[in-house]
Amino acid sequence: MSDILLEEIFIKRSQQKKKTSPLNFKERLFVLTQDKISYYDYDVDKMKKKGLKGSVDLEKIKCVEVVQPEPNSPKERLYPFQIIYDEGPLYIFAKNEEIQKKWIHKLKHVVRINKDLIQKFHPCFWVDGMWQCCQQEVKQAMGCRVLETKNRGFAKGSRRESRKPLPPTPEEERATRALPPQPPEESGPSVGMTVIAEYEYTPMNPQDLELRSDEEYTILEIADQHWWKARDKYGKEGYIPSNFVVKARNGLEGFDWYCKNMNRSQAEKLLKTENKDGGFLVRDSSKAGKYTVSLLTKAGGDAVASCRHYNICTTPQAQYYLAEKHNFSSIQELINYHQHNAAGMVSRLKYIVSNQKQNAPSTAGLGYGVWEIDPRHLTFIKELGNGQFGVVKYGKWQGQHDVAIKMIKEGSMSEDDFIEEAKVMMKLRHENLVQLYGVCTKQRPIYIVTEFLSNGCLLSYLREGLKQHPTSIQLLEMCKDVTEGMAYLENQQYLHRDLAARNCLVDTNGTVKVTDFGLSRYVLDDEYTSSAGSKFPVRWSPPEVLLYCKFSSKSDIWAFGVLMWEVYTLGRMPYERLNNTEIVEQVSRGLRLYRPQLANDRVYTIMTSCWIEKAEERPNFEELVVTIQDLLYDLQ
Ligand code: ADP
Ligand code: MG
Repeated sequence: MSDILLEEIFIKRSQQKKKTSPLNFKERLFVLTQDKISYYDYDVDKMKKKGLKGSVDLEKIKCVEVVQPEPNSPKERLYPFQIIYDEGPLYIFAKNEEIQKKWIHKLKHVVRINKDLIQKFHPCFWVDGMWQCCQQEVKQAMGCRVLETKNRGFAKGSRRESRKPLPPTPEEERATRALPPQPPEESGPSVGMTVIAEYEYTPMNPQDLELRSDEEYTILEIADQHWWKARDKYGKEGYIPSNFVVKARNGLEGFDWYCKNMNRSQAEKLLKTENKDGGFLVRDSSKAGKYTVSLLTKAGGDAVASCRHYNICTTPQAQYYLAEKHNFSSIQELINYHQHNAAGMVSRLKYIVSNQKQNAPSTAGLGYGVWEIDPRHLTFIKELGNGQFGVVKYGKWQGQHDVAIKMIKEGSMSEDDFIEEAKVMMKLRHENLVQLYGVCTKQRPIYIVTEFLSNGCLLSYLREGLKQHPTSIQLLEMCKDVTEGMAYLENQQYLHRDLAARNCLVDTNGTVKVTDFGLSRYVLDDEYTSSAGSKFPVRWSPPEVLLYCKFSSKSDIWAFGVLMWEVYTLGRMPYERLNNTEIVEQVSRGLRLYRPQLANDRVYTIMTSCWIEKAEERPNFEELVVTIQDLLYDLQ
């Protein structure tokens, strides 16, 4: 028997297969498995499943969407959704919005590879021979609304056969074009815009402006993507790091309980550090534009505190609510209410846990326009390790900023080429990339100065740094961090060429960042650069690299699959028993890494999708981010 994915009691509307058959609503137990959605008669008193009343094969589903509740519908029918298949729509009513969303999300996910997915649907009910939305009288009439999120055909390496949705018919194309314009995308930075500082910034250069957290600044000039000229409320002007400020957008920035850019594991870590019963914070959910309340509880006298995560839901009327139906028109009102009332949660929100004291992010370079660093401003504190280019040390810049310094062993790098490239690399800035701060090129050996990450290299962290057995969410978040950094590089059309756990680092919060991108091009060592060399990353390379040295963003994807395997095996060596020659031979013949014990089928499917023989059929990083986000969302 297939595994049950979801189970829930819903109200089901009769399908009115004949125009004259009566319309009725019955409670049914719905069960979703890998290949079917089935509904059963249900004995409410005995809480027992009775006879099977019907089922729909998932393969036949063409669309899953919300339906607008009917005017004056009773309160038990406020959250309908529809499953469209060849027999028409199946209407189901959920108890609340959260359940409705959960089922729609899950169903959309399991049917996303179906071949007959439609791009248009009817947002209202089919009642007594008419679509209430467009008044068409043919049940088969094409939908009148285009899906907001288009059905995508991404399912490479999926267990079911990979099938792409049909291209839209000319009719559908026309309808799409005739639609009213979408609301504009969130606008980018602009001169005159007011921003709020999220972190303190102490000027590193005379032309910089000090930032005090939670204060407002006006943007005067956007000369550089990472350094904006701004004015503070006293009229002082100067450059500020653009990633230290946010546009006052959702109005939450000013609240101590709001921790932007914090994921689930980081929230748990922070709450457990404070270790207060009822300690809470609000963070961005793994779904864009949504928020989650994370709450620590010691309820039930448990010796060990545990964390609960509640998604803040919205009603169709744009009201916010948490566990039970207490609606509010703003998130701050909702939090205020739950600071006094548990109302469905394990406890009320008792203590604000804030990340105000958290480390500020790294800046792009050490001040506006600076990329050549004066070595006299560096202090060396301790050796971190030894790499391809020589010794790496931890130190301080100007006595206060943590930095890592790579001292490039003479003869190990084509230096002039690298120095040119460093100017480009300085412009790459992302939360999940190790930031290049600058270089010291006026002396030998030259230095590469980067952001310092206190938890060191990911490979050692996996092998010995994780204090407890990692949760599946932690492992997946590490992979998500890497895909986010890589999606940024992909977007900048920048290849890594040596992606592996040894080239990722871990910061104090456990966030993973990718490092050494593009650096392999400047290595002067045949053993490393030639695919036949003993130091070439054969174990992370796809067949087209091993056979024809064909690098592309898809070879980075292959390497990511291997990196993911390293994460889920807690740092094992890929193809342990084989030497490089055997790997080239076997991988070109179709050998792939096995499923690690800690990886479930969905996780392993992601890895294997990265190892599809045909490079063009592998997903890209943007798609991997979405897939991993979906998976994380299901785990929350
Ligand atoms: P290379 O790229 O020259 O081969 P690595 O980047 O592997 O050298 O650095 C060697 C070791 O130094 C790493 O394994 C890691 O432990 C440490 N290290 C390198 N860069 C940093 C950094 N930015 N922060 C913390 N530790 C680092
Ligand atoms: Mg390295």
